[in-house]
Amino acid sequence: MINGENKISRPLRWGMVGGGRTGQVGYKHRTGALRDKTYDLVAGAFDIDAERGRDFGVNLGVDSNRCYPDFQTMFAEEANLNEGIEVVSIATPNGTHYEITMAALHAGLHVICEKPLVFTTKEAVEIKQLAEEKGLIVGVTYGFSGNIMLLQMRAMIEQGKIGDIHLVDLQYTHGYAATGDGDKKNAAQKWRVDPKIAGPSFVLGDLSTHTYYMSQLIMPEMKIKKLLCDRQSFVGSRYPLEDNAYVLMHYENGAVGRMWTSAVDAGCMDGQRIRIVGSKASLEWWDSKPNELRYELQGEPIQTLVRGTEYLDDLTSEYERLGTLHQEGLSDAWANIYLRIAIAIDAKKRGDEEILDKLIYPDIDAGIAGVQWIENCVRSADNGSVWVEYETEESVHA
Ligand code: NAD
Repeated sequence: MINGENKISRPLRWGMVGGGRTGQVGYKHRTGALRDKTYDLVAGAFDIDAERGRDFGVNLGVDSNRCYPDFQTMFAEEANLNEGIEVVSIATPNGTHYEITMAALHAGLHVICEKPLVFTTKEAVEIKQLAEEKGLIVGVTYGFSGNIMLLQMRAMIEQGKIGDIHLVDLQYTHGYAATGDGDKKNAAQKWRVDPKIAGPSFVLGDLSTHTYYMSQLIMPEMKIKKLLCDRQSFVGSRYPLEDNAYVLMHYENGAVGRMWTSAVDAGCMDGQRIRIVGSKASLEWWDSKPNELRYELQGEPIQTLVRGTEYLDDLTSEYERLGTLHQEGLSDAWANIYLRIAIAIDAKKRGDEEILDKLIYPDIDAGIAGVQWIENCVRSADNGSVWVEYETEESVHA
């Protein structure tokens, strides 16, 4: 149970790159980070527009001397302070993540970076190596994954409550880019369909990396053996980036799965869903009803498990915040992710490997896995939507 008591000895001195006044995701970072007294926002290079960034930072309560025109200046100046930042969040468009993350690690900072972490596995592995060399944590903000009923799914699957996993049904779709209008008008949509800034994919990276990570969180033992991805650009100007994709997966244990990801699911306001079908029962979770989990045991009445109740697993209850009768949502999920990353950073600083080993949070490996997911999907799609063996760093070097 989280009740506001300190989880680490003092708040971490925290800076942000991006997430400025006009940014879509910046407030989610702040709402997550500032909840549990684990971070103090003391510096920022919040905006590509330096003046707007300074004004915004001051309005957030950051000292104007510590609102910097760019990340390079922030890392250099903060390093000269006795109490400069220790951790930085990166909430900028995808194409900037690699450069900023590497610069932050070189400056000795722990990093919390947006997804998709970078464009290629090679870059992601370089980040991991540098972080290891420097003894620093890299966390990745798969924000939805902080919904605690996902941990309940993990616990129940581990306890055999659904039997052997046979089918994995994943979906993250919406209709907000059903037409190309926003591609010209909306700054955040514009870069998402520009391969130089978005990387090798649109919805596969923007949406499905979340759901893919959540599937791994729920079923850490399940490894994809091969997949087939079929991707389309229904708004033609987006080509080669897809606004819709279907992916079929075969897992090493014989299970099969599919992922549907789309930004052209017209009329869809909420399309994130995870259904795991086992040999004797199924579990299903919807992002729009994050407090509930359906448990469907073959031959028995369907059960809805509800967040905050005492029949849930300890793994779930550890991050319970509001108790029964009240709804938790996305900002609680973000707070859980930020809290766990703070605990990881604190443990790293103290050399507490025991905590680090058991803590479940989206770490650098989760960041690498997201990049590999995109690479495998794109490789399949661009070779004519064929089955490809699922490549990971280990499988390539095996
Ligand atoms: P956005 O275009 O709305 O905002 C980007 C922000 O970064 C703006 O404030 C911009 O001024 C600033 N910026 C750009 N380049 C900068 C630089 N070099 N230095 C400092 N500031 C800079 O984008 P967004 O939708 O907020 O997406 C940002 C990142 O967050 C992307 O990687 C995206 O994939 C990710 N994202 C994640 C989630 C999630 O749920 N985790 C949700 C939305 C976006």
